[in-house]
Amino acid sequence: MTAPKAHAWIDEMKPYVPGKSKAYGHHHPVKLSSNESVYGPSPKAMEAYRAATEGMIRYPDAESAELRAAIAEVHGLDVSRVICGAGSDDILTLLIHSYAGPGDEVIYSQYGFMVYPVQTEAVGATGIAVPNKNWAPDVDGILGAVTERTKLVFIDNPNNPTGTYVPWNEIERLHAGLPKHVLLVLDGAYAECVTAADYQAGAALVERAENVIMTRTFSKMYALAGLRVGWGYGPAAVIDVLNRVRMPFNVSVPAQAAAVAAVKDQDHLKASVAFNAEWRAWETAALSALGLDVVHSEANFLLVGFPTESPFTALECNEYLMKNGYIVRALSVLPDHLRISIGSEQQNRGVIALITDFMNGSPEAGEASDG
Ligand SMILES: *Cc1c(COP(=O)(O)O)cnc(C)c1O
Repeated sequence: MTAPKAHAWIDEMKPYVPGKSKAYGHHHPVKLSSNESVYGPSPKAMEAYRAATEGMIRYPDAESAELRAAIAEVHGLDVSRVICGAGSDDILTLLIHSYAGPGDEVIYSQYGFMVYPVQTEAVGATGIAVPNKNWAPDVDGILGAVTERTKLVFIDNPNNPTGTYVPWNEIERLHAGLPKHVLLVLDGAYAECVTAADYQAGAALVERAENVIMTRTFSKMYALAGLRVGWGYGPAAVIDVLNRVRMPFNVSVPAQAAAVAAVKDQDHLKASVAFNAEWRAWETAALSALGLDVVHSEANFLLVGFPTESPFTALECNEYLMKNGYIVRALSVLPDHLRISIGSEQQNRGVIALITDFMNGSPEAGEASDG
């Protein structure tokens, strides 16, 4: 007898490792590992979520019509080309499953969002990881990697885990250099956080091109990560494909309700963006003053480079922070770095105080690095 067998390529996949949420016996650790927004969602979104309990016996609207209309209105988009998903991961995954398979190539950055390589492997396609340039996705490197087998190019802009961004004229240059058969995916999970003037998330390019889709999320600056809502804006033909393949009821009743209220509350979003920018600058300055190598961030997290000599390495600092109840993100692809999400004022001051102690070689720091 033979057991059920999945596609051969799935046996080789390593599972996705999410940000840690536990730290050595701390029951309520400070979690700065998943780029959630501690500033919190709009109170109107929380109210809409509670009110939605009345509708829980019914399936949600399969078209997410009210949510799509609200998104289209706020962003000035054509509602027929907006699609909603269970987080933008849903849309990114649908894109890969719809456009790539064995023998096809999918391009992304070496230091980029994990979902692209994981889902590329899941469909048996070949992932091409292009080295970053100055921490950002490298336009020339990506153009050089394109072949006739390339189906998709993913750019997370700003990039996760580096926090850097590609200026808009470079995105336009990338698009101009891509063959028409390649679908360019502009993943704007952190678009709301960006304060750089030469950044665009890409809606205007979506409207004039046949091969560009932009994805966005309610998980980061809208602070609704637990509800799983994201959206995409693409050419009619691409949206049609995704609508055929997606699960019909992919966004739940309370998620749709809360997201509608959240997107309509742009004042709350602005306040959250201002808070993030202020603490991002403060933490960047504080960590730089310790002699650490902070990558310029336009997102809601910082990538911080540590010395390579013990006892000041990134992994030793990570241990020290965990022992003190702080969880940040250690990255297997960047072992000399830690990724630290912006948190509340108290959390930001707390993590900086701990890293300061660590870098000053406090007794606790030495002790922690032995663990
Ligand atoms: C967090 C993140 C997403 C998506 O998150 P969802 O919660 O699925 O919307 C997408 N891309 C990048 C680069 C991210 O960091």
